[in-house]
Amino acid sequence: MGNVIENAMNKHEPAMTHNIPAQNGQNMPENAPAHTTLIGLDQGELGEALSHIGVKDKQVRMRVNQLWNGLYARGLTQFDDLHTISKDLREKLAKAYTIERPQIVTEQLSNDGTRKWLLRFKSDIPGKPGPEAEMVYIPEETRGTLCISSQVGCTLNCRFCHTGTMPLVRNLSADEIVGQVMLARDRLGDWPLIEADNKEGLPDSKRMITRLVLMGMGEPLYNFDHIKKASAILCDDAGINLSHRRITLSTAGVVPMMERAGAEIGCMLAVSLHATNDKLRDELVPINRKYPLEQLMQACRDYPGLSNARRITFEYVMLDGINDSLNDAKALVQLLKGIPAKINLIPFNPWPDSPYQCSDWAQIERFADIINDAGYASPIRRPRGRDIMAACGQLKSQSERISNRERKALLGE
Ligand code: SAH
Repeated sequence: MGNVIENAMNKHEPAMTHNIPAQNGQNMPENAPAHTTLIGLDQGELGEALSHIGVKDKQVRMRVNQLWNGLYARGLTQFDDLHTISKDLREKLAKAYTIERPQIVTEQLSNDGTRKWLLRFKSDIPGKPGPEAEMVYIPEETRGTLCISSQVGCTLNCRFCHTGTMPLVRNLSADEIVGQVMLARDRLGDWPLIEADNKEGLPDSKRMITRLVLMGMGEPLYNFDHIKKASAILCDDAGINLSHRRITLSTAGVVPMMERAGAEIGCMLAVSLHATNDKLRDELVPINRKYPLEQLMQACRDYPGLSNARRITFEYVMLDGINDSLNDAKALVQLLKGIPAKINLIPFNPWPDSPYQCSDWAQIERFADIINDAGYASPIRRPRGRDIMAACGQLKSQSERISNRERKALLGE
């Protein structure tokens, strides 16, 4: 069982070993004044924000660069640490703006090193706490993957997905998407001068977050503009400097937006396929009724920048007796013919009352062999963080989050 730490404001889950102090957000009153955040603004907008508080035109450019460096290269969490600018300007900034990250409600550490945060975003309704979504960090020996959410809730209702059982609350804005990455870097000590409070399970590498995947809650292609704006900020080489090729956007198949994702964001694409015929896919991934397989596969073939070095990842969840026969594996090979592809087999991660079972391991291996024999890489995604419900498709927030008793039953403890 993972360690749970929680902020005093939220008592949904029991606190266990308090080895990770949840600092962020701890001092933030529930109804913090509605300062405008500077996170998530592009450089032009940041300049306007500076002009607005009286920075002279001829100084704006220089101040934007200083702020950008402070925010995104150094990871400052308060204006007061921005010593390259005068105290007077720092005070004006702090009066008008904020650089707060999303608030941490709980932070959990799995026994395999996976970390999961329940985050609270700004409230849209005065007096009410903001909506919540989850973020997961998966460390490996020499690299680390951060999985962020694009929406609170989801509209897609995929039958096997826990997030799909909660309604869409809202899209996350660009600042909330960038803010997730910044917060993770705060907690993992992934800024040049900041160390993690707890290094348990972290990779042996210079950077803790070497890959970003939009595979948390939500459908990123239904929140395209915010994702695009956030990616530009995250990839800016004077700041966080992630490479576009290290960002993977996962879609259930919003066909009309796929081309734009490649052309305008330039990220890698993952497609949640899960079935090789329309009949089954209509049932498992209902968006298939709108954009059936033929259209989806064509959009994959047309994905900008596709090559053997830049393959599409096809995600395929292994559901016992549903989509895991050896004929299904052969159909999958047929379907992907001619597309530079990797196939990611995901053992189904159960959640309370989920209508499916995970295929047995021997069957998953036989399935993988057929795909490997056809010349495709088909890694089986080792489930990570299952003990803290952080694995694929297990993310869900607030109202119906599972109780400790349910979690124990699920894990057979
Ligand atoms: N909406 C996007 C982003 C979600 S990514 C998409 O559908 O691609 C999350 C990935 O985990 C998707 O491939 C999803 O189909 C898969 N998934 C969802 N529930 C799962 C579960 N219970 N077990 C394993 N994988 C699951």
